[in-house]
Amino acid sequence: MDPTTVMVVASLAFVAIAGIGFERRRQHRARRAVARAAEMGLEDPPSLHPSIDPSRCIGCGSCVEACPEDDVLRVIDGRARLVNAAHCVGHGQCKTVCPTQAIELVFGTATRGVLVPLLGDDLQTSVPGIYVAGELGGFGLIRTAVAQGIEVVRHLKPAATRDPGAIDAAIVGAGPAGIAAALACRERGLTHLVLDQDGLGGSVHHYPRRKLVMTAPVKLPIVGMMDFHEISKEELVSYWRHVVSQADLKLRGPARVSSIDRAGDSFRLKWDDGEILARRVILATGRRGSPRKLGIPGEESTNVAYRLLEPDQYAAQRVLVVGGGNSALEAAISLAEAGARVVLSYRGDRFARVAPANLRRLDELRGPALEVILRSEARRIEKERVLLQDGSGERWIPNDHVFVLIGGDLPTSFLEKIGVATTTYYGEPPRAPREASAPGPA
Ligand SMILES: Cc1cc2nc3c(=O)[nH]c(=O)nc-3n(C[C@H](O)[C@H](O)[C@H](O)COP(=O)(O)OP(=O)(O)OC[C@H]3O[C@@H](n4cnc5c(N)ncnc54)[C@H](O)[C@@H]3O)c2cc1C
Ligand code: SF4
Repeated sequence: MDPTTVMVVASLAFVAIAGIGFERRRQHRARRAVARAAEMGLEDPPSLHPSIDPSRCIGCGSCVEACPEDDVLRVIDGRARLVNAAHCVGHGQCKTVCPTQAIELVFGTATRGVLVPLLGDDLQTSVPGIYVAGELGGFGLIRTAVAQGIEVVRHLKPAATRDPGAIDAAIVGAGPAGIAAALACRERGLTHLVLDQDGLGGSVHHYPRRKLVMTAPVKLPIVGMMDFHEISKEELVSYWRHVVSQADLKLRGPARVSSIDRAGDSFRLKWDDGEILARRVILATGRRGSPRKLGIPGEESTNVAYRLLEPDQYAAQRVLVVGGGNSALEAAISLAEAGARVVLSYRGDRFARVAPANLRRLDELRGPALEVILRSEARRIEKERVLLQDGSGERWIPNDHVFVLIGGDLPTSFLEKIGVATTTYYGEPPRAPREASAPGPA
């Protein structure tokens, strides 16, 4: 062989060996990502997510590239896998690009069922007069939720009697579905009130700061085209504010609706400090549920929060985290890592049912920056201090912010409470709405 041929063969062999090495390292990283997700409890998809048929998948990776979220899918051993299922928000772009139709979008998994309300074609629940729109009924994503908010108002049956003290429609939830439903009510000349436990925008508040939201243009009643494909979270919230003021929508919040009962031909909706009568109810509550509260004096103050989004903004602040589950541990860890002085208070005597990785990291950080006080309970929250009770009695601890992360009530328990029939999905595609309700009052 002449020297040039030897050089070419050697170079090709080198490239091939380097390629194999690179691929092996990539596969190793992907398997570790799956193991880490399992360890962190991130393997359960919260809503609609891809189910990949390995017999059809050719491992082309198009789905991995198409997914706009961070590290949800990877190709492992020549097949696509859902690695961080909990981060999937159901965009469904993976399904659209798959060249072999290997992907189906499903709810729940074989081992973890997901409850959704039974709905008729008119989006009415089993309780005549109570309707559902948006992600609660399994139709996630901003555009779909908006479309359903508009559609549900078209289906609202006229009330049998016009109870003079009742509004036409109470809308629970001010996310995309609720706002769209309110706009459609305005257009139809129906009186309405939107109630939200947080504020305007819905799940968007749970997105990380400056997250780019992907959506598709959709026509809103009264205000016209919502004409963007990509928009930041902050811009989307300010767009909804503009819509509410332009269309003069009736909105009240924070108002967490705790009960909905029949009152003659209408419904009585109650929240912390108010109630209203409505002829029809539209549930647009999404699927995130309501955070559980401590129920102690001072909890209503503005330095108390029920979710942590941006740990960095608490650097050098004194923060109390209340709770003993993964969310509380993860919050305490990320706050301490961001430079906050953290006290983690938990009423139990040990952290059970938490991810081992969280427990390990908590132990590493324990010290002046992160104090763990077990068998303790917060009793009162005041400006710059919190009264904490533990085995040695009550004491004030200096404090700037409190995060209460003690779990929440799932929307399903809310549905059960108001008597709405549900169905459970175990890794199945959403079924088309069917006639679930008895005919409502004509
Ligand atoms: C991190 C993340 C990223 C996402 N990214 C995208 C994206 O890029 N593009 C996209 O299209 N979709 C995205 N989604 C999904 C999208 O946000 C949801 O599908 C959509 O917001 C659903 O709208 P909704 O109106 O049905 O419910 P939600 O937006 O969840 O709104 C429900 C509202 O109801 C309120 N509520 C609940 N219970 C009560 C009660 N008892 N009383 C009063 N109020 C109550 C809640 O506070 C909330 O404000 C993402 C979701 C998450 C979590
Ligand atoms: S796009 Fe389809 S075929 Fe390609 S890796 Fe993803 S699931 Fe497999």
